[in-house]
Amino acid sequence: MVKVMAVNAGSSSLKFKLYEMPEEKVLCSGNAERIGHEDAIFGIKWADQSEKKILPILDHARAVELVVQAMLEKGIVKNMNEIKAVGHRIVQGGKYFSHSELFNKDTEDKIESLIPLAPLHNKAHLVGFRAFKKILPDVVNVAVFDTAFHQTMEPQDYVFPIPYEYTEKYDCRRYGAHGTSHKYLSEMGLKYLEGIKHPRIISCHIGSGASITAIKDGACVATSMGLTPLGGIMMGTRTGDLDPSVMNYLCKCTGKSVEEMYQIFNKQSGFQGVSEVSNDSRDVLKACDEGNEKAILANKLFIRRIADYIGQYYVRLGGADLIIFSAGIGENSARTREEVCEAISEALGVKINKELNSSIRGKEALLSTNDSKIKVAIIPTDEEVMIARDTFSFYK
Ligand code: AMP
Repeated sequence: MVKVMAVNAGSSSLKFKLYEMPEEKVLCSGNAERIGHEDAIFGIKWADQSEKKILPILDHARAVELVVQAMLEKGIVKNMNEIKAVGHRIVQGGKYFSHSELFNKDTEDKIESLIPLAPLHNKAHLVGFRAFKKILPDVVNVAVFDTAFHQTMEPQDYVFPIPYEYTEKYDCRRYGAHGTSHKYLSEMGLKYLEGIKHPRIISCHIGSGASITAIKDGACVATSMGLTPLGGIMMGTRTGDLDPSVMNYLCKCTGKSVEEMYQIFNKQSGFQGVSEVSNDSRDVLKACDEGNEKAILANKLFIRRIADYIGQYYVRLGGADLIIFSAGIGENSARTREEVCEAISEALGVKINKELNSSIRGKEALLSTNDSKIKVAIIPTDEEVMIARDTFSFYK
């Protein structure tokens, strides 16, 4: 039995989960938020207990110290040598990483060189990694990339139709994101596809960030997010795909800079922008029920974008055997699942058991009826366990 930690470091946060491997037993999980502030928050859950404190956490190294301290205090580990490996979620692995990699100088340098492609994320991941290295210098550190699963795409699926010089010189291409989640979903989905020789899966990771991936024989062939997680379907605050001239036109209309408009496309668009109600689909759906027309439009747009991508990937895969709904909205919103299935039912012959669908939240279930041409399932995603599995495989 080996203790392995999965870590997701953001610019001001650090989420962690400690596993006993290979059993995949969760020993504890927690989060440091508002790192850099006097009134930061540190929370930890273990066994049936939980604790939350407000205290100064001025940097990530302090956050790691708190994690270590809490684990010792609560008796989750007797000494820190019990933790043999730490897996770090890395959003952008660029063209370099098609699988997880041991953290060494080369890995660190490459992640650093990719900062321009994911400025907030990669920088924070490195800060997190360095903080762990400082506090736990002898453990195995592994980088698990959000983009790795999508590296199997063919050039016609990842090259943008821009001057090829830019593709080559600046590595400007589709990388996708949520790869760890899509990989998990595609593996979990196989149980519904026994006897199918070349399984074709469309996985819909629909949360506040959302992406759809086409998977054939366990490998990604296409994914909706692009150079960054801004592309693809509409999201909580992000536009998803747009005619590129929208940027130019709106900058001229508003006098805002490209950078300002880029921030608006990332942080004030999607559900938030169209509905003018909220970035949270729960609030938007509530406003729909109250007859708010902008909320109704936002929801229709969202469903249309998802349905369009499913249609596109149905063609890309030459059919589909399973559609998976996952993440915050996909796992919890029966209405969204029903409306998406309704939108694709005529063309693709998808049928779900509506009663079952409306009774299920956050749990795995097969929703499609026996006469549906494509199976439809809810599968709760688990990116952390994938990080722990990959990390453990390096330790072994
Ligand atoms: P995630 O990013 O995967 O954690 O998903 C978070 C999002 O899931 C929230 O912003 C909500 O929009 C959405 N969500 C969670 N529960 C529900 C629900 N019961 N109905 C609709 N949306 C939900």
